[in-house]
Amino acid sequence: MKNKMLAVLKHNFGYDSFRLEQENIIHSVLEGKDVLAIMPTGGGKSICYQLPALMLQGIAVVISPLIALMKDQVDALQANGIHAAFINSTQSADEQQRVMQQARNGSLKLLYLAPERLNGNSSQYFLQFLKELKPALFAIDEAHCISSWGHDFRPEYLQLAVFKKQFPHTPVIALTASADKLTQQDILEKLELKQPEVFISSFNRPNIYYYIEPKRNAIGNIVEYLRGHKDDSGIIYALSRASTESIASRLRDAGIAAMHYHAGMDNAERSKVQEHFQRDEIKVIVATIAFGMGIDKSNVRFVIHHDVPKNIEGYYQETGRAGRDGLKSDAILFYSAGDIIKLKKFIEIDGNPEQTAVSEKKLRQMQDFCEHEGCRRQYLLHYFGEQSPAFCGSCDYCMSELEEKDATVDAQKLLSAISRTGERYGAGYIIDFLRGSASEKINPAHKELKTYGIGKHLKKEEWQWMIKQLLGQGFLSKTDDAYAVLKLNDRSWAILKGEQEMKLVMKKAKARAVPDEELTYEKELLKILREVRLEYADREQVPAYHIVADNSLLELATYLPQTFDELKQISGFGDYKVGKYGSGFMNAVKTYCREHKLNSQMHFSKPKRERKEKIEKQHASNTQMISLKMFKTGLPLDEIAEQRNMTLSTIEGHLSYFIGSGELNISQFMPRDKTEKIMGAIKQSGQSHAIKPIKDLLPDEISYGEIKMAMEHYKRMQMS
Ligand code: ADP
Ligand code: ZN
Repeated sequence: MKNKMLAVLKHNFGYDSFRLEQENIIHSVLEGKDVLAIMPTGGGKSICYQLPALMLQGIAVVISPLIALMKDQVDALQANGIHAAFINSTQSADEQQRVMQQARNGSLKLLYLAPERLNGNSSQYFLQFLKELKPALFAIDEAHCISSWGHDFRPEYLQLAVFKKQFPHTPVIALTASADKLTQQDILEKLELKQPEVFISSFNRPNIYYYIEPKRNAIGNIVEYLRGHKDDSGIIYALSRASTESIASRLRDAGIAAMHYHAGMDNAERSKVQEHFQRDEIKVIVATIAFGMGIDKSNVRFVIHHDVPKNIEGYYQETGRAGRDGLKSDAILFYSAGDIIKLKKFIEIDGNPEQTAVSEKKLRQMQDFCEHEGCRRQYLLHYFGEQSPAFCGSCDYCMSELEEKDATVDAQKLLSAISRTGERYGAGYIIDFLRGSASEKINPAHKELKTYGIGKHLKKEEWQWMIKQLLGQGFLSKTDDAYAVLKLNDRSWAILKGEQEMKLVMKKAKARAVPDEELTYEKELLKILREVRLEYADREQVPAYHIVADNSLLELATYLPQTFDELKQISGFGDYKVGKYGSGFMNAVKTYCREHKLNSQMHFSKPKRERKEKIEKQHASNTQMISLKMFKTGLPLDEIAEQRNMTLSTIEGHLSYFIGSGELNISQFMPRDKTEKIMGAIKQSGQSHAIKPIKDLLPDEISYGEIKMAMEHYKRMQMS
């Protein structure tokens, strides 16, 4: 059976291998079992019922709560030549009748329905219709909607228990991306699944790179980022409706086509924006969290949070909209402690102290995550109850240069200070105590203790760093309330007794080398292929990625297939798509190769899976980080500019960001007198945000890039 499953996957969807638990899930469904499948967003839930639908005799009925999503799914299936249709309230009665007729006469493999169909007046009529169909499978998407524990309870889902009651022998597969235990249990019970098999896939999204950056000149940084990602689609989330509008307009001022989206707009406006985005006509949407539900776009390359989200659940869901196609994508959050203070007021619910306390706790965890000195991914997965290694290699923390240093003695000093003062204080007090602060806040009795003032050799920030690491590595605990009192635990005692060493992770001065050159693709050809795809998409009135996904285009532009047999080896080209669109794409590739005297590169291609990983790596990552890394290897700036095919001023712009964040120092780039000269001009211009007036005050040979660096340095001086 497994071979047959793979053959169907290849033939109909053009994929070579299953992801996560797909194979086991499909296997169980085909054996007639009830299944609950829990997979993260973008994990590939749809194939878990679409593929069985193709293999089973008869029709599969799919329940989906979101009308927009339904149409998208059906379009995607039809693009693969699979007969599918939906019935929902957007259709006329005639249309609905026509689809029902198609279903009755057996010409559909999948029928999508909204859950409302099984409620109210028409429910009996519909049930009768389903009985005539004798479905081979029921699939319930977004199954967490059945649970009031979940975040999106929909009472009409409760009716879905009718499937097992009326069709006891038809398998039911419930699918969701919601992980928590209560919700899972609720789904199994409320749907009355029989001896269900539960499959839980990891929540890790390895292709999403997490970055948290200090919120300083956020718009400027966003513009910079977008300029480096001109061909990419993405979402920028902001807290308020007004700010989505103002950010979008500032981006347009900077020459970036961006639109805003929020719940205050009328329906027509909102669907227009959504459609532009789905069709790749607008690449950048600035939105409140209202944007996302029902967006099934697979090639979202970045999600940027301009403001701090209220909780980690929301953050993870929003960042999860990036990279559904499995290609490398960025999640960037601009953090400021000020945002947390603002949010505190927002989340207070009048007259409901319990709910307020829950929200406050979630906000504290969000803040913790932002300030976390350790692997971001580990923190997130840990939050969702999953184990994960301490180093993921693809978050800002893991990508910075780090080294370990033995800090056992200092850790012992810190822990004994906590112990001696009775485990009743937060980090601030303990640090003041260790550093021998004369402040009146320190209890006079504590000033008599032996440990008072034994930590003068370290700066306040260094002690803060140590405390974070001790907490992160589990050598110290803290209470969950607003005061965050530090408490010792069993592992603390192991350090105090000298049974356990404490390693402190430090930013490393000297850097590693830049990774090897990767295979390159034909940039011009990729553009041409995008146009070919857009033509097909316009003709068929479907989103571009339904024709073929971005990574398929990348593979075409990399391996330059010249025959249909070669084309079939490209990921995403199943037999149907090769037949329907193959000649269009191949002609484009062949013409390009003729003009540029290029041949097929298919012999370089590895089995698809490995290949994909390689191509992913080429995709530009956070552009500032790359410049930083190259700079740290000791390359001169003009060399970096040349290698990256960017102007010197752009590279200086990238690095100036790190001057602002304190990671680099201006003295690494220019002599002191030059810095002072520019700083003088900044002061003279009376402002520090517009660069042109400053440039005008300076001799020509001082470049924009240098001024940018000095401006960042100036701002940093002002702040400290
Ligand atoms: P979910 O519903 O879990 O968020 P989807 O079912 O929309 O995710 O799948 C996300 C993307 O992954 C889609 O573009 C889908 O075609 C693709 N995909 C699913 N399974 C595979 C696979 N085995 N190999 C390659 N791509 C896959
Ligand atoms: Zn990491």
